[in-house]
Amino acid sequence: MKCKICKQPATIYLKYCGLRLCDEHFIQFLERKVQRTIKKYKMIDPEGERILVPLSGGKDSQSLMYILKTILPEEVQVIGFHINLGIPNSSEKSLRFINKLQDILGFELQVLDLKKEHGFSIQDLYEHRISRRPICAICGTIKRYVFNQEAKKRGFTKIATGHLLDDEVTVLMSNLIENNMDQLVRGGPMLPAREPNIIARIKPLYEVSELETRKYAEVRSIPYLTESCPYDVKASTKRLKKVMKHLEEIRPNSNLSLIRAYISSYKPAFRDHFTPSMGSINECACGAPTSGETCNFCWIKTKILQEMGQVE
Ligand code: SF4
Ligand SMILES: [Zn+2]
Ligand SMILES: [Zn+2]
Repeated sequence: MKCKICKQPATIYLKYCGLRLCDEHFIQFLERKVQRTIKKYKMIDPEGERILVPLSGGKDSQSLMYILKTILPEEVQVIGFHINLGIPNSSEKSLRFINKLQDILGFELQVLDLKKEHGFSIQDLYEHRISRRPICAICGTIKRYVFNQEAKKRGFTKIATGHLLDDEVTVLMSNLIENNMDQLVRGGPMLPAREPNIIARIKPLYEVSELETRKYAEVRSIPYLTESCPYDVKASTKRLKKVMKHLEEIRPNSNLSLIRAYISSYKPAFRDHFTPSMGSINECACGAPTSGETCNFCWIKTKILQEMGQVE
């Protein structure tokens, strides 16, 4: 097996595009691919932006940070942001891996401690069970809120997340199965700032697979946390992800093909036939947009602080 470009021994075979590559040419291939995605979807203005990259210490966000710091011009500021969620045995390790990456790349890192800033941690939410929603769904709401509010407060223009092709095609399939038109009309690699209070979100690894990210992290010697969070269950999502992986195995390129078809054909067609819900028309006391009177985050915060006996 030889590298298609230099004829040296290949270390990876990318079945979906029939390419065999050595380490060096794989890195070049992947970084160019991300550059093309950024350009294609006009994710980042090369003249200058301030991008917040949420870091968890895991493979995907660490690799995203590495790629962005490598391919973007100096005019674009790329700053890491980490939330200490207060999960025993996990949160301290996360920060350690982020610091290791910081030693290699030398980026600015901002850290927010959820307990110090808002009075509760994810561990508190796990122990008190304030709603029937799974802990990951509540945690997701909290993280999205904090990233958005902090990005707004600290003058960021975009939030770049490490969602991969495998995540995106799984979400797409799940939304199709559940006929979740609101999400189908809104999904994609770039979620624009819908209201002035919502910072645009971009997914530069939208077309990069799990296999490619793993290989990139290995070749670039990117440090990352391999243990998953102790509360990570999301069993049904994991099963669907496996199905999509299997589909990719028996029919190479199907995952990429599906999300590209979604962007170019399904989404515009859905948009023509479906008007999404109005979304957030009110403003919560905290300043976040909400469809009711209180945003989800403030509801969670009030409830957990009450449960913990910290407010009436
Ligand atoms: S696995 Fe769930 S609880 Fe753990 S950090 Fe992720 S979303 Fe939060
Ligand atoms: Zn080569
Ligand atoms: Zn609020």
